[in-house]
Amino acid sequence: MIIRVAHLYPEYLNIYADRGNIAVFTRRANARGHELAVDSITLETVLEPGAHDLIYVGGGQDREQAMIAPDLAARSDAIRAAVDGGAALLAVCGGYQLLGRGYRGRDGSWLEGAGLLPHETLAGDMRMIGDVLLESTLPEAPGRTIAGFENHAGRTVLDPDAAPLGRVVAGYGNDGESGFEGCRVGRAVGTYLHGPLLPRNPWLADLILSWAVAHATTGDPEPLAPVSEELETAAHAVAAERARSRGGRPA
Ligand code: GLN
Repeated sequence: MIIRVAHLYPEYLNIYADRGNIAVFTRRANARGHELAVDSITLETVLEPGAHDLIYVGGGQDREQAMIAPDLAARSDAIRAAVDGGAALLAVCGGYQLLGRGYRGRDGSWLEGAGLLPHETLAGDMRMIGDVLLESTLPEAPGRTIAGFENHAGRTVLDPDAAPLGRVVAGYGNDGESGFEGCRVGRAVGTYLHGPLLPRNPWLADLILSWAVAHATTGDPEPLAPVSEELETAAHAVAAERARSRGGRPA
């Protein structure tokens, strides 16, 4: 089966090898006999609602975010229609911030967001950098650990009834205070975790891929057939240990 992917702004939002998440989706789809067809969506490229099973956007510096934010905000309806229609979505860091209502930079400037995710981001003076370990709060995988790397000035504040991706075991997470990281709405997941995220968290890749397959087949999400993941498991263990050695959540 062909899984159609919309990769938003790959030339602007791609730091810490965020593009690597597409490589993981490709490899894990191929291992189940599926093909990934990736469309690069850049400034003013038309994004047809329903044309993609998976939407992906990476992270980037404030400068690059400012270059794409008006274009992304103008796609708010198309992105919401796609996700309401059952497409899966993964957004990392700068992309995660701009899928909320917006991002207030350190200079006070406001970048309007796409408004899909129930949060807003305010840049602080201190950057939140380092290895991160989460315990998933996703009902599909309660307590499963997620390991990655964060580097952001933004503090993302979720709306009171918003669902996070996970509880912070080590690291700053959304804002260094709430004890939570990321945000999830239906089949859309946003996170600050770079690395890239998915090579060391194959179960999360498979969960999101299963949503994309469900959209492609107009069926309900089914767990994907198990595949070997020794390397991924070892990479996760190393990243998790490095995060734990940070000594829990910063005071
Ligand atoms: N520029 C944003 C911030 O600093 C996002 C950074 C990123 O994508 N790593 O918070």
